[in-house]
Amino acid sequence: MGELKMAKKAAEKSAKELSEMLLNPRKNGFFKVTDEKIEKADKFCEGYKAFLNSAKTERESVEYAVAAAEKHGFVPFDPKHKYAAGDKVYYNNRGKAICLAIMGKEGCKNGVRIAAAHIDNPRLDLKPIPLYESSEMAYLKTHYYGGIKKYQWTAIPLAMHGVVVKSDGTVIKVCIGEEAGDPQFTITDILPHLGQDQATKPLGTAFTGEDLNILIGSRPVRDEEAKDAYKLNIMRLLNEKYGIIEADLISAEIEFVPAFKAVDIGFDRSLVGAYGHDDRVCAYPALEAILNCKNPVQTVVTVLTDKEETGNTGLNSEYMRYFIADLAQAEGEEPRHVLSKSTCISADVTAAYDPHYASVYEAQNSTYINGGLGIAKYTGAHGKGGTSDANAEFVAKIRRTFDDAGVLWQIGELGKVDQGGGGTVACCLPATSFYLGAAYAPDIGVPVLSMHAPFEVVSKLDVYMAYKGFKAFFDEK
Ligand code: MN
Ligand code: MN
Repeated sequence: MGELKMAKKAAEKSAKELSEMLLNPRKNGFFKVTDEKIEKADKFCEGYKAFLNSAKTERESVEYAVAAAEKHGFVPFDPKHKYAAGDKVYYNNRGKAICLAIMGKEGCKNGVRIAAAHIDNPRLDLKPIPLYESSEMAYLKTHYYGGIKKYQWTAIPLAMHGVVVKSDGTVIKVCIGEEAGDPQFTITDILPHLGQDQATKPLGTAFTGEDLNILIGSRPVRDEEAKDAYKLNIMRLLNEKYGIIEADLISAEIEFVPAFKAVDIGFDRSLVGAYGHDDRVCAYPALEAILNCKNPVQTVVTVLTDKEETGNTGLNSEYMRYFIADLAQAEGEEPRHVLSKSTCISADVTAAYDPHYASVYEAQNSTYINGGLGIAKYTGAHGKGGTSDANAEFVAKIRRTFDDAGVLWQIGELGKVDQGGGGTVACCLPATSFYLGAAYAPDIGVPVLSMHAPFEVVSKLDVYMAYKGFKAFFDEK
């Protein structure tokens, strides 16, 4: 009877009214937000750009996070200490990953809320024995890291970041190419006039990993008898500046990254262009969300991790679970019960729809620039292989949380069905979708244009919505 009444009522409505009531058309975010929100987004991104410029590597991102956390009253976590609601702690994992937590009013007995983002980016790492000279020039050999299109890394200015650890344990921080007046570095490419053979090769094979050698000098030590005079001159300069010898490069983590600064893109300044948005564009909002979170009900945790997949600072290692287990034990709770009641946002970027490459996207199920925070319920390719498909209950909860908090959001898939398996976007599949106890984590993050390129683009409005979204997830009663 009730259903019949409803049907009748619906039939009395005009198509316009019906459509408003029943359909869910996609709308550009700018038609849904106030001027005030746009101003806030622009302001938020000034902070984001400053973060991008001061933290280009995972180590620098952790340093930034520790400094910001301490400023906000966070202290190093002591598993033996008894914490009270509102206490703020952080755990620095080897300087390359960090967990931050605020104890909730109900502690962690009903689970914790986690937002996890990664702070490593595609880059060129040095090989263990990198230095050589060839045709009277000095070079460094690299081993690229992350899914890159190799040709994009030639003929751009590069900066050197990282650490050299001497055999006595002394850690020497290196950074050249970021300050005004610093020298920079580059990988040379062939001139088009002589590039005909190169131009006929498929894009993926025109450059090999072994071609990515960085030009670092061209003056020899001034001694015509000297062997390896060009290489020697570079070592002389490095020794003067850092006190290191060639053998010290064996125990170094040196990353060459694009030397560009983060800048506004567009006449309207609506976008930010920078190196390493994936995934610092989620890491920064996730950090800001916990720094500005007050009196959460459940304990909240932001994780900024090194390598998504591997290593003792990566998310596939146990450090995050151990951290949560320590939080649980400090309250006398069973860690696995806390873990299985926890919820998690895998804060990682999505691919923004790019009209120039429309054929790889499915327009109806894509995330768009200025569409707000993008949700990917699952990723994976060829029958959702390798994905963690978030359950409908959690997605329903998230969408209510976002709607209640006025967060602009959208949902999409990473490209067409089976497109990812073809090699075009497979390298870009967000890999942080991990599973935590009973909670499957959806990827929730900012849509990115030119993902994994040395210079990526995001929308300011979307970055701000990531902050609002992660904060709403933490704040929810
Ligand atoms: Mn990525
Ligand atoms: Mn990512």
